[in-house]
Amino acid sequence: MIYFDYASTAPLNPDVLDTYTRLLPKLYANADSLHAPGREAQRLMEKSRAQIAQLLSVRGDEVIFTSCASEANSTAIKGFALANRHRGNHLITTKAEHSSVAAAFAQLEQEFGFRVSYIPVTTQGIVDTETLYKALTKDTILVSLMYVNNETGAINPIEEVSAYVHEHSRAVVHVDCVQALGKLKLPLSMLDMATFSAHKIYGLKGSAFFYKKRNIKLLPLINGGQQEQGIRGGTSNTPANIVLAKTLRLALENQDEHYAYVKKLHAQLCTELSTLNDVHINSNEQCIPHIVNVSFLNVGSEIMLNALDERGFCVSAQSTCSSRSRAYSHVLAEMGLGDHIATHAIRISLSHMTTSEEINQLIQALKEINHDYRT
Ligand code: PLP
Repeated sequence: MIYFDYASTAPLNPDVLDTYTRLLPKLYANADSLHAPGREAQRLMEKSRAQIAQLLSVRGDEVIFTSCASEANSTAIKGFALANRHRGNHLITTKAEHSSVAAAFAQLEQEFGFRVSYIPVTTQGIVDTETLYKALTKDTILVSLMYVNNETGAINPIEEVSAYVHEHSRAVVHVDCVQALGKLKLPLSMLDMATFSAHKIYGLKGSAFFYKKRNIKLLPLINGGQQEQGIRGGTSNTPANIVLAKTLRLALENQDEHYAYVKKLHAQLCTELSTLNDVHINSNEQCIPHIVNVSFLNVGSEIMLNALDERGFCVSAQSTCSSRSRAYSHVLAEMGLGDHIATHAIRISLSHMTTSEEINQLIQALKEINHDYRT
């Protein structure tokens, strides 16, 4: 199989696997146990937390481990809204968020009576900042938007949004940074909360964390012991949390070099795609080069995905977390590209592990499928 689905998840870095397999049999003690092996597990986990904080230029107690970014998003968004309700009842997010964010806001709206403003995105797939700024009221307590869109790669102007929100309201800013980590610079000092996942940066699945400024109060969603400052109960996944520091270090170490390499692959892919008939490239020049969203106007998303699968290529038809529903990209529809484009799109995602030869093979397969299914 040739893999073009890195935005969905990435293979494990062999160095991470090696450290993890060495730690796993040894570090079985509960990090909250008071005996020597428990204290050692706790020491190594706190060392990892401190390293993560240092790599991101934040404080150690601002890093909270979770099981996935979906949990991190839920904790940051619902935990904040529910703990700060006395300050206001209005929340803001965008119409192009990942399902873990969109569903958290829907729940706050439908089950808990919050008022939520869903801000549209432009034809470029980025948040319509004017509408967002106008939506801010005295009652707004939280603004949440993603840094990089997982379907198109569109980059939101998070620094500008954060600066405006902080200057003109009392709201805090949460940013889903899952698709930006290891690719873009992270202006965390300007944000109040930000979420990350290990498996998108060649780390373990079931391992993630979020950043939260010290003064931010959250209602815990998982009640239990004192783990993670009481924000998230449950016995710590110590080996995963420990290996996360190494995962992050490796991802950041080669970030610029990898970015430049992927940019070249992206240029090759887009040049080739633009020579094919009846193709609409939905990602634009301002997107990260790792994601190319493209619609084949005569081949539905699922048909294209299956035809590529048969030929040994892995791509996504939309966000993987929504892939069991009918292939329809709400993100592309929100960009105003219309139902046809939204039901004929695939997401090709690239990595520093992708080769130019793999792109040639993918283009050849796309050419054949595009020809065979021409209506
Ligand atoms: N946010 C974005 C933008 C994502 O792309 C994803 C994963 O696809 C998530 C959140 C959820 O991450 P996890 O799989 O760790 O729950």
